[in-house]
Amino acid sequence: MTNEEIWQPILAQIRSNVSPAIFATWFKSTYVISIEGGEATIAVPNLLAKEWLEQKYRKQTIGFLRSHNESVREVFFRVVKEPPPKTEKIKSANGAISGGQLGFDEFKFNKDTNLNPKYDFDCFIVGLHNELAHAAAVAVAEKPGENYNPLFIYGGVGLGKTHLLQAIGNEVIARFKNKKVRYIPMEKLTSEIITAIRGGTIETLRAKYLDTAVFIVDDVQFISGKERTQDEFFYIFNTLYNKNLQIVLSSDRAPKAIPEISNRLRSRFEGGMIADVSLPDFETRVAILKTKCQQLNISFSDEILSIIASSVQSNIRELEGALTKLAAHAKFKNVAPTMEVCQTILSSINPKKIINVKKIIQDTVNFYDIKEKDILSDSRKKEIVKPRQVIMYLLREEMKSSFPFIGRKMGDKDHTTVMHAYKKISNELKENETFKEEINLLKQKIYNS
Ligand code: ADP
Ligand code: MG
Repeated sequence: MTNEEIWQPILAQIRSNVSPAIFATWFKSTYVISIEGGEATIAVPNLLAKEWLEQKYRKQTIGFLRSHNESVREVFFRVVKEPPPKTEKIKSANGAISGGQLGFDEFKFNKDTNLNPKYDFDCFIVGLHNELAHAAAVAVAEKPGENYNPLFIYGGVGLGKTHLLQAIGNEVIARFKNKKVRYIPMEKLTSEIITAIRGGTIETLRAKYLDTAVFIVDDVQFISGKERTQDEFFYIFNTLYNKNLQIVLSSDRAPKAIPEISNRLRSRFEGGMIADVSLPDFETRVAILKTKCQQLNISFSDEILSIIASSVQSNIRELEGALTKLAAHAKFKNVAPTMEVCQTILSSINPKKIINVKKIIQDTVNFYDIKEKDILSDSRKKEIVKPRQVIMYLLREEMKSSFPFIGRKMGDKDHTTVMHAYKKISNELKENETFKEEINLLKQKIYNS
């Protein structure tokens, strides 16, 4: 392991334990100079930081270092004016860059493919919620261009889409040394396309993508409403497709639910395999936590893992966040947290989100891509009636508002109208699985934004 590989996860743990200001002031520019003979030397940018860290963080830093390298007995902070040497950057076997002053998120990724090697199939837990998406991803990685083209994976935030997409890329690289893989988020591709159109360099851009064996585009819903980008993307898509090159896409919703995309693009999206990822059940959440514990090199009792799994249900990213916090706590204190400590920490990171009428209305109209004034009007158009009933339902279900109150907020409707809407949506949720998913996604948007 390089010094940087040891230091980055430690910094990440510290970061989740101190305020952003403290982190930026004292920790951000630190790096490991050496670990030798049980002594670690950390570079700090100035004398103040040196003193502060020695007084407040010496012990904890040793503890953290020890969890990665047991030989460490002492830590020294040394003032170093210049930034970490660029030559420290080394290329590991898979071409990942490490070292230097990279930010956390871009800490380790491959420059050519844009892939982060930490996302692989081995550390991806399969449960009922992602079985199909996982199976399809593996099939595609084994035989790119031959199984499903495109593979379209969709689902709400933090449910593992990016992980799966990148795992496909990493697996292809591992299996086929000479296949070219590229991963790019749609937001970035959009800006590349716009820049290329403006600068008259569209041919260069095409050349960059048209020979990729596996082209992976994350969060394609961002193409909504962007006509020129859609045209260009359609061109790239078709060219790759016709050459039997693999295309993998993700989105926060199914193709048919992405507003403002051309029909021809939508039908391309729907032309291969569509698989969704949803919320993992309790057992799977525990299994995910166990894997993450191994990665963090920490062990927690089943009881603690159960508490985390039952109190964080929103998505896997938050589940990880909760675990990292508890792990950092345990390492600082050098004992496993008590149940009480767990409860306190968990309730501090997972406070009941504050939602209000306005937010429910706003998020719902955005979600369905309609106007607020239409919702409050008396319009009987189908595309308006449904979202209006959904809002009424959510106001009742999530905020426990009274029917007359909801009626008033919804443009002075009668309370019987609201009752009818509530019943209608409740019934449909029982019968229609797709609709249930849609409402779950909407709820995620309301609670997560
Ligand atoms: P999305 O792209 O759907 O928003 P991510 O792929 O970024 O979600 O996942 C969020 C976090 O949860 C990542 O750190 C990812 O590694 C982790 N994660 C998601 N699903 C799984 C899984 N099935 N097993 C292990 N880790 C997972
Ligand atoms: Mg993602």
